[in-house]
Amino acid sequence: MAVAETIANGDYKREVPVGRRDEIGALLRSLAIMRDSIGSREESILRLAYVDTLTGLPNRTRLLELFEARCADCAGVLFILGIDRFAPINKALGHAVGDQLLREIAVRLKGALGESEIVARLWGDEFALLLNPADKPAIEAFAQKILMALREPMSVDGQRLDIDASIGIVSFPQDGSSITSLMRRADLAMNAAKRRHSGFAFGSELGDEPAHEQLSLIGEMREALARGEFVAWYQPKLNLAQNRISGAEALIRWRHPKKGMIPPGRFIPFAEQTGFIREITPWILRQAMEHAAQWRQSGMPVVTSVNLSTHDLLNHTLVDQIRDLINQYALPPELLCLEITESALMDEPELALKHLHELAALGLKLSIDDYGTGQASLAYVKTLPVHELKIDRAFVTGVDRDHKNAAIVRSTILLCRELGLSVVAEGAETKEEVDWLRSVDCDLVQGYRVAKPMPVTDFTAWVSDFNQAGHSASGTASS
Ligand code: C2E
Ligand code: MG
Ligand code: MG
Repeated sequence: MAVAETIANGDYKREVPVGRRDEIGALLRSLAIMRDSIGSREESILRLAYVDTLTGLPNRTRLLELFEARCADCAGVLFILGIDRFAPINKALGHAVGDQLLREIAVRLKGALGESEIVARLWGDEFALLLNPADKPAIEAFAQKILMALREPMSVDGQRLDIDASIGIVSFPQDGSSITSLMRRADLAMNAAKRRHSGFAFGSELGDEPAHEQLSLIGEMREALARGEFVAWYQPKLNLAQNRISGAEALIRWRHPKKGMIPPGRFIPFAEQTGFIREITPWILRQAMEHAAQWRQSGMPVVTSVNLSTHDLLNHTLVDQIRDLINQYALPPELLCLEITESALMDEPELALKHLHELAALGLKLSIDDYGTGQASLAYVKTLPVHELKIDRAFVTGVDRDHKNAAIVRSTILLCRELGLSVVAEGAETKEEVDWLRSVDCDLVQGYRVAKPMPVTDFTAWVSDFNQAGHSASGTASS
């Protein structure tokens, strides 16, 4: 029977002649009913497979298909957008509120797009936007427009919610041709935007390596640690009033057998994303404490700083680990300083703060790194149990000539004095900058003008020379 065959072939639109009153007519009528129910079942299966049931947007599977169908051979732009701090909002206000928030976000994103553009929900609080090709200024303007649309307060369940988002941006075919590599790269860029609080970041600016190089680095990190390829270098912190080196920052380097010396900016962000930072931090802490203990024993006490990341601050075992290491190396705790960034405190502020207080109670020093690049105010910093504030290089560069930077640095120093915090100026590269910082009573300076980071043996010799030489007021070592 031709009708049955067409239905079997998946054409559910074919009319079934149901007018006959004999047995064949009855058969045709049941066939018609069967056709309708199979048709609607297939529709709902397709819907489930392709549509995100919460928001009604296309889901990840559909996005991949649409990309293959429409974009594989043409140019365009892909945004991956994540909502900042969605997990704590969800936890604090409940999943029902979280769900409503995601629906509202979906509506706003859809409203911002053109006819042929697509927004899909990938999972959780992540969305993907597939956009028409555009030049960089136009892409930036569009990313801003999306962020503004999401920043408009949302009213959910009678509560006003302010949310923010971060966007990772890639263009194709320039940044990759397969949708999976584009999504991965956009995802890395989104995480960079989150960390920097910059709203958006371009995948093409992540580093000069293509995505597959970065991925191979990620894969190699574990072995690198086992093979001893990581090294701790030290950069001195100069006490300006005493003109002596009183501290140092431990900065990790990766001595890669093929790629040479890899700076931390090219692997630490991935270590943070993949959780591998949980292995790196204890390693560098151990190195730094061992060296700090040696310097102290040789009569050269140096307050040694180690950088912590968000993961570390939320790690329940961190405080115990540090307590054990301090005991093991018999290091006076005040010779260890931990540097944290403001953004590391933002994800789960209560837990991070609890750990900060426990660390402070051990007697070690805490420092706010990269101050000025995030959103934290000094009023907020005041509530934290910290001892030191490091003004970011962005404000220190040209501070002797730039009135705005000068005003920011000068007032930060004054306020820190009131709050009992010592101030480190990061990234001073010229004699003029160091002189200016000394003239406004900045406590410490760390920068290429004093010295670049160096291997431990060089550092030990360099500091002992520097502190014995008794340098003249502005005569720091040249870089
Ligand atoms: P940071 O903690 O702000 O460290 C200061 C960075 O500024 C270092 O870069 C240092 O070499 C650089 N720097 C210092 N003085 C100058 C200067 O005068 N001019 C310029 N242009 N740069 C200067 P580095 O070593 O590449 O480290 C970059 C970032 O990587 C660090 O920023 C820190 O956030 C992170 N990092 C480094 N080591 C570790 C580590 O062991 N653990 C973690 N979690 N992060 C680390
Ligand atoms: Mg630091
Ligand atoms: Mg810094």
